[in-house]
Amino acid sequence: MGNFNGRSVVVTGGAQGIGRGLSEGFARAGASVTIVDIDKASANQLTETLRDDGFTAQWVFADVSRAADAERAITSAIAAYGGVDVLVNNAGIQPMGSYVNVEAETEEGWDRIIGVNLKAHFLMSKYAIPSMRERGGGVVINIASVQGLQSQPLVPAYAASKGGVLSLTRNMALDYASENIRVVAINPGTIDTPMVRTQALAAGNEDELVEQWGGLHPIGRVGQPSDIANAALFLASDQASFITGEHLCVDGGFMAQGAWASETAD
Ligand code: NAD
Repeated sequence: MGNFNGRSVVVTGGAQGIGRGLSEGFARAGASVTIVDIDKASANQLTETLRDDGFTAQWVFADVSRAADAERAITSAIAAYGGVDVLVNNAGIQPMGSYVNVEAETEEGWDRIIGVNLKAHFLMSKYAIPSMRERGGGVVINIASVQGLQSQPLVPAYAASKGGVLSLTRNMALDYASENIRVVAINPGTIDTPMVRTQALAAGNEDELVEQWGGLHPIGRVGQPSDIANAALFLASDQASFITGEHLCVDGGFMAQGAWASETAD
């Protein structure tokens, strides 16, 4: 699935969950991977494991919602690996306690979620694109969500951030298509990650709930980080060279359902 030898790939939130799957997937495909994260222990452990297995990786401590951190992360990828070919904007948050309507949402809560889930995609792209241009092209993959297309109750900031990511994806695709820089998005369904496990644990029986959520997906299971990584490897590859400004749902058929999904025809 794509040969990324000699390519420099930056993965935000690359230490855990979907990001970890992305970091592993691109490293195994031959890329030099820069893991950008705020979780020092997980980032360090993953980097060591990848290096022990013979892959090329480094990690950078950076809060991608902060301009100075985002710029430093890109500078570090350029210093280590000569530039940036692929940027995966994956870091995102849906904190426990953020399940509120707009009246109950605080300004700080709103700003934090929009900052990490949307502003960071802008910041990381802003600093990475000049290097892509110098290298004759590149790919930005934005991890959005099925919640960018449809909503659930009580997630105003998260829903707005993911809708914003899809809109930003279309805009950037137009602005950079002529420079051979493609911009695409992936909308994961429910994926088995620490984010989802934390929510399941807080709501009751962790494993039972994850299985139950899996049952809501026509394929009958939740996804794994590798499901997202496989889609990202394709979208970042030359086989996808005519795909830009588009989003791909990797959701076990979740978005194919209508509101009548549980009803069966006579
Ligand atoms: P996760 O919480 O399991 O992992 C997120 C990673 O991002 C962690 O390593 C964390 O340390 C890092 N991170 C958080 N804030 C950061 C910041 N400010 N700067 C740098 N790194 C930061 O999350 P996940 O489930 O793997 O989700 C990854 C992305 O996929 C998010 O954008 C999320 O919204 C999206 N998504 C997830 C699911 C799902 O079911 N898991 C579904 C749809 C979309």
